[in-house]
Amino acid sequence: MRKHIFNAGPCKLSDRTIENTAKAVLELNNCGQSIMEVSHRSKDFEPVLDETIALMREILNIPENYSVLFLGGGASLQFCMIPYNFLKTKAFYLNTGTWATKAKEEAELLGFGEVVSVSSKDKNFTYIPKGFEVPKDVDYAHITTNNTIRGTEIREDWDFGVPLIADMSSDILSRPVDVTKYKMIYGGAQKNMGPAGVTFVIIENEFAKSFVTDRKIPTMLKYMTHIDNGTMYNTPPCINIFAIRETLLWIKELGGLKIMDKLADERANLLYNAIDNSKMFVAPVQVKEDRSRMNIDFVFKPEFQELEADFLKFVASKNCVGLKGHRSVGGLRASTYNACTIEDVKSLIVAMTEFEKSNL
Ligand SMILES: *Cc1c(COP(=O)(O)O)cnc(C)c1O
Repeated sequence: MRKHIFNAGPCKLSDRTIENTAKAVLELNNCGQSIMEVSHRSKDFEPVLDETIALMREILNIPENYSVLFLGGGASLQFCMIPYNFLKTKAFYLNTGTWATKAKEEAELLGFGEVVSVSSKDKNFTYIPKGFEVPKDVDYAHITTNNTIRGTEIREDWDFGVPLIADMSSDILSRPVDVTKYKMIYGGAQKNMGPAGVTFVIIENEFAKSFVTDRKIPTMLKYMTHIDNGTMYNTPPCINIFAIRETLLWIKELGGLKIMDKLADERANLLYNAIDNSKMFVAPVQVKEDRSRMNIDFVFKPEFQELEADFLKFVASKNCVGLKGHRSVGGLRASTYNACTIEDVKSLIVAMTEFEKSNL
C-alpha cells in the first residue's frame, strides 16, 4: 500500500510517473532494451527528450526564444553557474532562506563582483521582504520563489526592471508562471517533476549569450555549451527525463497548471486551517500571503514540545510519513507538492486531530 508521503524532496510523484518509468526500466517502447541501456542518441530516446521539452514549453507557456535544458549537478550547481556566466560587476540576491543563502554565498565565494542582498533573516526567514529597492546597475537579481525549508513562497511574478533569475526548485509546475518576466528559471527536479538527479533550466537565449566573454568558463558550466548542443553536450540523465515526461503528461491530462494551482490552494488551505485552529500546533509563518503551499511548516506550542517524537510515531502508524522538519530548523513540515492528494492531507489532519484530542 502506498503511504501518505509528505517528504520534502525527493517526494511523492504521480502513480503514472512511477508505473510508466518502472515499465521503461524493464523495456522502452518494445525496443528490446531498458531505458538504462538504450543510447541517448537513438530513435528510441531522442523523441522522449524532444517530447519532454515540447511539453515543458506547452504547459509552462515558454516562448520560442527560450531554451529548455536538463542538466546534472542539481539546483546547487546552478548556484555557481549563474555567477560564472553572468556576474560581471554586481548582483542582487533576495535572501529568503536556506537555499537562497547558499545561492548568494556561492556568488560571494567566486568573487567576480559585488553581491548585494535583502534578507528576512531578522525574523528567522518567516516572511518575504517587500517594498525594497533593487539597484538598477546589477547584472541580475536572484530570487528563490519557494523556500522549501522555511515554508514561505513568492506566488507572483515580480519585475524589478533588471534581469531576473529564479530558483523554482520546489514550486515549479504548481501555478501558471509568466516566463517572460524571467531571464532564467531553474530547479532540481526532485520536488514537483521527477526523481533526483536532473536539473531543469529555462533560459532566454539572448541572456545566455550575454555571458562574461573575458572569463574562462569551464565548458560544462557554460549555458551556451548546453544550448548549442540541444542539452546533449554530455549524456543526459535519461531515466529522469523519461520520468519528467510522464509527470508532464499527467499534469496535462488533469488540465494543466490552472488545475495544479487550484489543488495546491485546496491542500494548503485545509492544512493551514487545521494548524491555525489547533491548540497544540502553530505555524511559524504568520503572514498568510507569504505561506508556502508546497511546504507547510508547523511546530508544537512550547508547552507541548516534548510530544514531538510521539507525534511522529503516531502519524507514522497512520501511514503519514516525511513530516519531520528539516534538520536545520526542527519542528514539523508537511510537503504538499502536486502529487500529494487531498486524501493524503485529510488523512494527516485526521491523525493530527486524533493525537491532539488524546494528549490535551
Ligand atoms: C532542494 C532545493 C535546492 C537544492 O537542490 P539540489 O538539486 O539538491 O541541488 C535548491 N533550491 C531549492 C529552493 C530547493 O528546494
